[in-house]
Amino acid sequence: MKPEDGEKRVRTEGLWLKCEKCGQIVWRKALEDNFQVCPKCGYHGRLDARTRLTMLFDEGKFEQFDTCLVSTNPLEFVDTKKYSDRLAASQAATHLRDAIISAGGSLNGRRVHICAMELKFVGGSMGTVVGEVITRAIERSMEQKAPLVIVSASGGARMQEGAISLMQLGKISAALMRLDQARVPYISVLTDPTTGGVTASFAMLGDLNIAEPGALIGFAGPRVIEQTIRQKLPAGFQTSEFLLQHGFLDAVVKREDLKNYLSKTLDFLAPAPAEKAEAGAVTRAS
Ligand SMILES: [Zn+2]
Repeated sequence: MKPEDGEKRVRTEGLWLKCEKCGQIVWRKALEDNFQVCPKCGYHGRLDARTRLTMLFDEGKFEQFDTCLVSTNPLEFVDTKKYSDRLAASQAATHLRDAIISAGGSLNGRRVHICAMELKFVGGSMGTVVGEVITRAIERSMEQKAPLVIVSASGGARMQEGAISLMQLGKISAALMRLDQARVPYISVLTDPTTGGVTASFAMLGDLNIAEPGALIGFAGPRVIEQTIRQKLPAGFQTSEFLLQHGFLDAVVKREDLKNYLSKTLDFLAPAPAEKAEAGAVTRAS
């Protein structure tokens, strides 16, 4: 009997998970089917970049861009580990070259570009590769007049690339200004967590900045702020809901509503894409 018991235990291992928020036991499959939102309390767990894109694009289909860009490790940085080892470990764990996937496809029938950040890759930090991939996505959106969505999940700039990673802030912001002048919409979606240099640049520069419920969003961490201003911070400080209340965000949108929210908003911001209008004109003429 005993070996059989052992076998059973091995088989059921990992099938059930405990929700971080409500502590209830949730079937792993139910959580996956629900895109990591707890079916019992609605807690929004973290979602990887690939699943995020599968969720947003029609039929889960999308094409990927700039997949061959790789960090050159410009500073040959070493902290507790070599940066090159960190990169190799993250690449092996995520099967990505860096902390972002840039994709194009249809969202409720409309051509869009979506960049999704991958938190599991060196903390979703923004180095030269992330900066370049986003800039190219912006330029592609501009050329094709297709709206851009960036889903952020990031610890901020990548320390191991020092000032070169900080320079990405300026590069991306300048490209976003050109996108704005070209009147192509950009929606920023902030997810848990979005902090540091990412909050300080493109995550807060959308025509609309929206966040998922309960996400941690901030620039510096609460301890640093408390030490600087010598005041206790209010409860819920740096959550999506707090930021919405204080005018830093335009909306807090549940994950299950995100796709339709983006679609409706884009209909409002860019009602008649050039292709569609032309196609309509041809139909009327014939
Ligand atoms: Zn829960």
